[in-house]
Amino acid sequence: MSIRLYQPEKRRLGLMGGTFDPVHYGHLVAAEEARYQFDMEKVIFIPASKPPHKTRRDISTPEQRLEMTKNAISSNLHFTISDLEIKREGLSYTIDTVRAMKEIYVGWEIYFITGADAILDILTWKNIEGLLKECCFVAATRPGFHLESIGFKLGNLSKEALAKIKTIEVPALAISSTDIRQRVREGRPIKYLLPEVVEKFIYRNNLYHS
Ligand code: ATP
Ligand code: MG
Repeated sequence: MSIRLYQPEKRRLGLMGGTFDPVHYGHLVAAEEARYQFDMEKVIFIPASKPPHKTRRDISTPEQRLEMTKNAISSNLHFTISDLEIKREGLSYTIDTVRAMKEIYVGWEIYFITGADAILDILTWKNIEGLLKECCFVAATRPGFHLESIGFKLGNLSKEALAKIKTIEVPALAISSTDIRQRVREGRPIKYLLPEVVEKFIYRNNLYHS
């Protein structure tokens, strides 16, 4: 019998939060690059709950967003999806989601993956130091773009908290859900901006027409 004398490395879990209305290659590339660079065993996509606008056709339902995201990630063995926030309804706080995941993935190290725009928002949250005690952040930025270079108040963070914010560069950063919805509305192409299965779902369900 062999005895492990070393402290095994913690298993790593990525969380990819977002509205995913619709999910696109920007999300997928960022999640995959984060997974690769930080050696995550798994990345969980967590579509946010959003108030249902039943009368508006330019916004899809939580079920449709879940379905699109599920289809988009199906070819990646490391990607999975959680309906935790959608089931919870209303506004979910990231810290609650992270804590809920820690109860399931006991002892794992949690990495919350975001785009650079989202990390800027997050850094202005009230209890950011508390959140950075619970998890790391991976911010996807454009090649050549460094968080320090945009002059926001990183200076307010403690050294320990700062060390928990990592950046990665991803090439597909110009893609956004807002642009895709607008393209659909205007009859312009969305092909090659998102997986074909999501594109088909959008047309089949007549999403994003005003
Ligand atoms: P919208 O235009 O409706 O805001 P979005 O494209 O920004 O949609 P979200 O669902 O809001 O997509 O984003 C989920 C997460 O993915 C956020 O952390 C966001 O910063 C990040 N993200 C969005 N687009 C990209 C992209 N092209 N590359 C890397 N990360 C992205
Ligand atoms: Mg966004």
